[in-house]
Order: sequence, then C-alpha cells, then structure tokens
Amino acid sequence: MENIGVVGAGQMGSGIAQIAAATGFNVILMDIREEFWQKGIETIARNMEREVKKDRLSPEAKEAALKRIRGTSNLKEMVPAELIIEAASEDLEIKLQIFKELSMTARPEAILASNTSSISITKLAAVTNRPEKVIGMHFMNPVPVMKLVEIIRGLATSDATYQEVYDLALKLGKTPCLAQDYPGFISNRILLPMINEAIYCLFEGVGDREAIDTVMRLGMNHPMGPLALADLIGLDTCLAILRVLYQELGDPKYRPCPLLVKYVEAGYLGRKTGRGFYEYST
Ligand code: NAD
Repeated sequence: MENIGVVGAGQMGSGIAQIAAATGFNVILMDIREEFWQKGIETIARNMEREVKKDRLSPEAKEAALKRIRGTSNLKEMVPAELIIEAASEDLEIKLQIFKELSMTARPEAILASNTSSISITKLAAVTNRPEKVIGMHFMNPVPVMKLVEIIRGLATSDATYQEVYDLALKLGKTPCLAQDYPGFISNRILLPMINEAIYCLFEGVGDREAIDTVMRLGMNHPMGPLALADLIGLDTCLAILRVLYQELGDPKYRPCPLLVKYVEAGYLGRKTGRGFYEYST
C-alpha cells in the first residue's frame, strides 16, 4: 500500500493525513471546499513545525512529508488510493453519500474505512458494491498523540480486509484493538455516557465546571476532566454520538443532556469554535 485517501480535513482527517504522510504514504486529502483542506494542510504544517522545534522531526523529513500530501475538493481524485479513510462530520446522511460515491469512483480493490465514532459500519457497507472491504478505523483525538486505533468489523468485513487494516495501524505507529459493530463500539459506549453524566451534573448544579473536571482529574486520575474532553472532541460530535446510542440501543440512560443540546444549538461546539464549556482563544 502506498496511497491513502482521507475524506474530511477537520481535526481528525488532518491528524490522520499527518501520521500517514509522516510514515511514508502519499496522501490525498479531500474536503468539500478548498479553504477547508487548505486549513487542514496548514494545521499539519504547524504541528510538524512544533515537532521540528522539539527535535523530534528533522526539517527535511517535515518537508518530504508535506510534499506527500495533496489536497482536493473532488472525491473522484481518490482513484490512486488503495485505502480511503472517511473522516467527515458525524452525520449518517453525509457518510452514506460519501460511501455511495466512493463505491463508484474508488478503484475496485480499494478498502473503504470510516473513522466514525458511533455510526454502524454495516450500514455504511450496505450502500457500497464491496461490503467485505468496508471497515471501521477509529482513531483517537489528537491523532498524532494518541496510540489507540479501534478497528471495527462490520457484519460482512472479510478477514483479509481486517488483517490489512490491522497491519496498517501498526505501520502508522498505533496499537489496534478489535471491536464489534454495535453503537459506539467500545470506546464511545463507555466514554459518552460518562461525559453526558458530567454535563447533567453541571445542568443540575451538582458542581460547577471546574469542580466536575477537578474531581475526575484528581479523584479518578483522568488526564482531562470530562467537560474539557467534550470541548476537545467537539460538542456537536458528542451530541451526534449520544443520539446514535439513544436511538439504536433504545435505552433512556443514553438521553443527551438538554444543556448539551442547547450549547450545540448556540454554536458553542468546543475548542474548534472557541467556546464550549470553557472559552478558548482561537
Ligand atoms: P470536524 O468538524 O473537525 O471535521 C469534519 C470535516 O468534514 C469538516 O472539515 C467538513 O467540512 C468535512 N465534511 C463535511 N461533509 C463532507 C463531505 N461530504 N465530504 C468531505 N468532507 C466533508 O470533525 P472531526 O472531529 O474531525 O470528526 C470527523 C469524524 O471523526 C466524525 O465521524 C467523528 O465522529 C470522528 N471522530 C471524532 C473524534 C473527536 O474527538 N473529534 C474522535 C474520533 C473520531
């Protein structure tokens, strides 16, 4: 495998593109508007420059990696890719449309992976002409830092596809871990109810944001408090995942906190918009 396509150049897509280019792959990075993929490439360049300053990357390696990334606004440009990782917004309709299009435009032997946090891989596979080559490849945020890749096998995912993606995760310097295709997989089935409960604590006045995060950091030894983590993930993404858990599992324990809904409605999406449970200078 030499060429990897990445669809969506937001925080996750740009992170995936960064590690793929840094480990020697050619990367085609697609987003719906030129300014979006350009912003993704700028973020990658900035992150790599930080690595250079810390002596973790040579300036030559940085330049070589950046040269391996090509941006595009057209999904048809994915043709050279042997594997395409979809990392567009957490929205079923958007993802179904992308998988339908990739099914027609990607090379027939290409593996189609999704970085979805919660959407059924089996559902995405069902709209393609190659369900045995569709798989979940769930990276963690921030991608260059976090070691885990949760690999999700859909109902029809073949052993060969699983093995190829498992080996690729190792080449990208990650630790793969297998999960079956149920809402939220392992990571978000456990994480999101905790984050939601932290938001309920804020909503009901059990504690203020600092107290809630401090209890979980110092009391439970979590590196970040749940509200700060929700801001990092993106509150829109958190809400989308909770809605999938609530609808697909049908259990009221997953109902999204009304405060989370209100914040998303207000456009307080967390770090990416400069405001979530905390304020950030962008
Ligand atoms: P983001 O909002 O930062 O980026 C999403 C990008 O997708 C945007 O740039 C948007 O323009 C682009 N996009 C929307 N429709 C598109 C289309 N039709 N074609 C191509 N690009 C399109 O979101 P993100 O945090 O990078 O999340 C992306 C995916 O990764 C989601 O499925 C999310 O659930 C998943 N994920 C997120 C995290 C996290 O912590 N944020 C962690 C793991 C997985």
